[in-house]
Amino acid sequence: MHRILFDNLAKGTLTEPPPAPDESALAELAAALERNARRKLGRSLSIRQVDAGSCNGCELEINALGNPFYDLERFGLRFVASPRHADVLLVTGPVTRNMQIALERTYRATPDPKWVVAAGDCALDGGMFAGSYACLGGVSAAIPVDLHIRGCPPSPTQLLKGLLALLQVDKAR
Ligand code: SF4
Repeated sequence: MHRILFDNLAKGTLTEPPPAPDESALAELAAALERNARRKLGRSLSIRQVDAGSCNGCELEINALGNPFYDLERFGLRFVASPRHADVLLVTGPVTRNMQIALERTYRATPDPKWVVAAGDCALDGGMFAGSYACLGGVSAAIPVDLHIRGCPPSPTQLLKGLLALLQVDKAR
């Protein structure tokens, strides 16, 4: 036991150092997101996250948006508990057959105007779960999707860029 402890201490840290944070770029991105949300909605952007069958890898990155480093609530991005309060449904995972009805009901419960963002490769086309008897496939197999954000999982920065692109491009709504 002591030898194992000593060996591990002698090896030092084996994980990679974290990437250097680019706080100014992040703040700029988040501020642009807030400006667009206020211009389009007159208020902050409310997001209801729906896990339609994810492995939870995508949720870990989505959760990171609220951690002390990203702290996106300061820029008006907030997650809400009910679809009735949401502007955006952020859906992850392939749509499992057990979640299909719940996802469709959540979509219907979200007031217009609303956007659906499918986050992660599984949400695009089923990803590594495509073809499983338990899955329908991507999110668009169940409800209309306005934007796909690729990645397995997408990083918090990719998620923010996707949300910003959604608000910038979809001027008509
Ligand atoms: S895209 Fe990757 S991280 Fe996200 S649910 Fe699928 S397998 Fe998990």
